[in-house]
Amino acid sequence: MIYRQKKRPWKVIRAGGREFPVYEEYDESQKQAYPIYPDFLENPEYAANGRPFKTAGQENCPHNKPDDCGDCGGCEWFCREEPFAIIGLCMNESLKRPENTDSKEGLICEN
Ligand code: SF4
Repeated sequence: MIYRQKKRPWKVIRAGGREFPVYEEYDESQKQAYPIYPDFLENPEYAANGRPFKTAGQENCPHNKPDDCGDCGGCEWFCREEPFAIIGLCMNESLKRPENTDSKEGLICEN
């Protein structure tokens, strides 16, 4: 049986001016808890500057750099605000919301 531990977040990740509470899911058969990160493929979310949020483990897209980097965490477009952060912003212009015309808005990426 797998159930989500909703009492309080395992961790709160701050990225792109937002906070993402991360809860754990407990798998009784494995006797182990796993953090459940947001699924931005299923539920896309954007920062105020129009940049899409991504998780480091999200599968790479056709805009990845270098080619075939495996996941967003290995992509040069992935902007982490802290070293090893799991959630960051994709800085590729073609994936930005078209209504936002600003660029990096002072973001400092720790890639
Ligand atoms: S371009 Fe953006 S969405 Fe595509 S792999 Fe890189 S970070 Fe991920």
